[in-house]
Amino acid sequence: MKHWKYLLAAAFLVAAGTFVLAQGASEQKPKPKPAPANMFGFPSPELRQKPKTAVAPAPTPSVTATCRNTGSFDRWLADFKREALEQGISQRTLNAAGSQLTYEQSIINRDRGQRVFSQGFLQFSDRMAAGHRIKGGQAQIQKHAALFKRVEEQYGVPGPVIASFWGLETDFGGNIGNITTLPSLATLAYDCRRSDLFRKELLSALKIIQRGDLTPDQMIGSWAGELGQTQFLPAHYYDYGVDFDGDGKINLLRSTPDVIASTANYIRSLGWKQHEPWMHEVRVPARLPWDQADIAIKHPRSQWAAWGVRQANGQPLDADEKPASLLLPMGRLGPAFLVYENFGIFPQWNNSLTYSTTAAFLATRIAGAGPMSRGKEGLESLSFEEIRELQRLLVKRGYDVGKIDGIPGAATRAAVKDVQMQLKMPADSYPTPDLLNRLRGRQEAR
Ligand code: CA
Repeated sequence: MKHWKYLLAAAFLVAAGTFVLAQGASEQKPKPKPAPANMFGFPSPELRQKPKTAVAPAPTPSVTATCRNTGSFDRWLADFKREALEQGISQRTLNAAGSQLTYEQSIINRDRGQRVFSQGFLQFSDRMAAGHRIKGGQAQIQKHAALFKRVEEQYGVPGPVIASFWGLETDFGGNIGNITTLPSLATLAYDCRRSDLFRKELLSALKIIQRGDLTPDQMIGSWAGELGQTQFLPAHYYDYGVDFDGDGKINLLRSTPDVIASTANYIRSLGWKQHEPWMHEVRVPARLPWDQADIAIKHPRSQWAAWGVRQANGQPLDADEKPASLLLPMGRLGPAFLVYENFGIFPQWNNSLTYSTTAAFLATRIAGAGPMSRGKEGLESLSFEEIRELQRLLVKRGYDVGKIDGIPGAATRAAVKDVQMQLKMPADSYPTPDLLNRLRGRQEAR
């Protein structure tokens, strides 16, 4: 589970069509037993061949460049322990955790050594929503049918949605990480880049220990402190964890009932509406008011039907009043989805729209939807460098695109849409080579 909205303003820039991957520097030297993939990427070359979980943007270079650690770790730790006692952590818990509250340079190296590159939606979703995850999700729902049924009755969240996150995060518990959590959290809490967030997470980890859910030695997960089969940050583990097998402990590493119910409980807390859809793949006509294809714009399904949008199988849409947005992660020539109110929980889990769209799509596949349309002929994407060039050209035309970062985020997409309208191009907000060429041409003509 990724809550980089708390970490990085830049993460908001990650948009449909491109997904930012970041890799740890540590992967330069493969280890015999590779660390599992985690939010930041694929820590070993072997795993990079079959990436298995979500990745999120690295902290922005400006954050990295401007912050500096001052004061010793020991002094920081003494201060942290004082705060922990004030917050209700007992001396006994602190003693139990004490030997693991250490500074690990390797964690800092990983955190700071991330390289960022981008990936198109189709490429990302092909890999992440791959056949083994679709079949795996269906098999898990079948294997734990009574459990999923009980969880849906209690929390209102359907099995395929839970299974999608379960598959994307850890391949259904197969890869939950092998890094001790407390040293990671202590190190990242001491480090200047996101101290406040990780200080809170470290406190939550101590609360989990104090509640008796896990011992410090059992706390093992991803290098940035995520725990369990759906990779909860400790604060969410503490707040949303459910003891569903009734053994008195919330164990999100080993107990399938606890994992499924806790994940559903968290999804419900994000606003999931029972018996409501989240996404349908659709077909779009050749002509449409493309500027309406925007995650922030909703129309009744009847309006989309009137504009010629059809179900993926070519049948007419249900022309009812249900509000829906048209999501075109690769523009008007690429795959197309109608997304509903429930889709909103996916970007709250991970605020990359590409990850969100992939997770929502995988859930539809687990629920029985067919393969995604590959899009129409002429579907082209810009590279990371080309998007940077496009952003510079947009800035020259007076647009605010946020950072020149190679990521077509919300501001870049809004500028693209506006310039497409000016140039009388289909305004689907998707940056294409054609658009870049036109902007280059105008640049030269000046
Ligand atoms: Ca339990």
